[in-house]
Amino acid sequence: MGRVLVIGAGGVSTVAVKKMGFNPEVFSDIMIASRTKSKADKIALAMSHPKVQTAQVDADKVDEMVDLFSKFKPELVVNLALPYQDLSIMDACLEYGVSYLDTANYEPREEAKYQYSWQWAYKERFAEAELTAILGCGFDPGVTGVFTAYAAKHHFDSIEYLDIVDCNAGDHHKAFATNFNPEINIREITQRGRYFENGEWKETDPLTVHLPLNYPGIGPRESYLMYHEELESLVKNFPSLKRARFWMTFGQEYLTHLRVIQNIGMSRIDPVLYEGVEIVPIQFLKAVLPDPGELGSDYTGETSIGCRIRGLRNGEEKRYYIYNNCSHQAAFRETGAQAVSYTTGVPAMIGAKLFLQGLWKKAGVWNVEEFDPDPFMKELNEQGLPWNEVFNRDLEL
Ligand code: NDP
Repeated sequence: MGRVLVIGAGGVSTVAVKKMGFNPEVFSDIMIASRTKSKADKIALAMSHPKVQTAQVDADKVDEMVDLFSKFKPELVVNLALPYQDLSIMDACLEYGVSYLDTANYEPREEAKYQYSWQWAYKERFAEAELTAILGCGFDPGVTGVFTAYAAKHHFDSIEYLDIVDCNAGDHHKAFATNFNPEINIREITQRGRYFENGEWKETDPLTVHLPLNYPGIGPRESYLMYHEELESLVKNFPSLKRARFWMTFGQEYLTHLRVIQNIGMSRIDPVLYEGVEIVPIQFLKAVLPDPGELGSDYTGETSIGCRIRGLRNGEEKRYYIYNNCSHQAAFRETGAQAVSYTTGVPAMIGAKLFLQGLWKKAGVWNVEEFDPDPFMKELNEQGLPWNEVFNRDLEL
């Protein structure tokens, strides 16, 4: 029996909260608090769980959150707002005295910079308060870290080469749309590529390194090397890694739109003056693009995300591929949201569940791969994200 307070009421929150509702023996009391209360109400109304409350909160304001926590008395706060709010929510958790979970690392608004240092800096304060903070508990980051920890625990003596491969072979039937918050998504994709090799980070121009990779049940898809935040924690937590990279598929139509958006200045994150009012172009763009939370009804096809790993077992090279495929339509039928929200929201719920059950609970600030992967892997199979393993086949990388 646990009390959980979820901040944010977008696509990911819709899935995570509905899945919490399907596990009432663990999530006995749920509060959805967000900037726009009507969106939280919409999620709550679609649930049959008897104890779901909603509230309005500005997660940039620590005092507002502490007031809300004092009234609801959560055992865990799940941050499914935006990466900009990570630090203010962690501050509020420390001030009130409650544990924390999120799915994306902190980003300052004025710079698209991805690093865990800001959140890792809270480690001692969470440890001293005997509170747990679980960072990056979506799919990537999230399940990809758990997959890596599971491989290291059960299949390798040392893991040496890690390639995280993320394919969305779905079709939402829109000319251009992003699968999660457009502002966060476009900031992430337009940054320089970065990967880890032989102890150092190497950079590439954005989306310039690419090759076709074969995805199970899908076939070949052009996959682009880009930086993704879990690489930072995985190379720290698995020091045997000689190389770690992240690949994501994009269609030509998406890339053409993205290039135009950049060329005409609509991806700018700095304010411009328009008729006497300061607007941030990428925030305006978000307002006119399709809402990722509304893409589900026409979305066909599936996602396939996994880890391709090479390393040593009993002195011999071993190759291993672990992945999940998730159907957009099946995700929509179950939760009313598409597979990208589903593959993020389900792991967030699982992390919260394991925390409330005391299985993923330790004082301090942790990335997911620092917990025991086994109970999480079991839950993935039971909660809608079953995984598959392939041994000693060509990894293509
Ligand atoms: P959405 O934009 O759909 O939802 C974000 C929600 O947060 C909205 O309800 C928004 O309110 C609310 N919010 C924003 N700012 C504040 C604030 N200051 N105070 C209170 N609430 C606020 O995003 P998604 O659901 O697509 O994504 C949620 C998170 O999941 C993001 O951090 C994203 O980076 C992460 N993510 C992680 C993935 C992973 O695999 N690890 C994959 C995909 C996403 P309003 O409705 O008023 O705008």
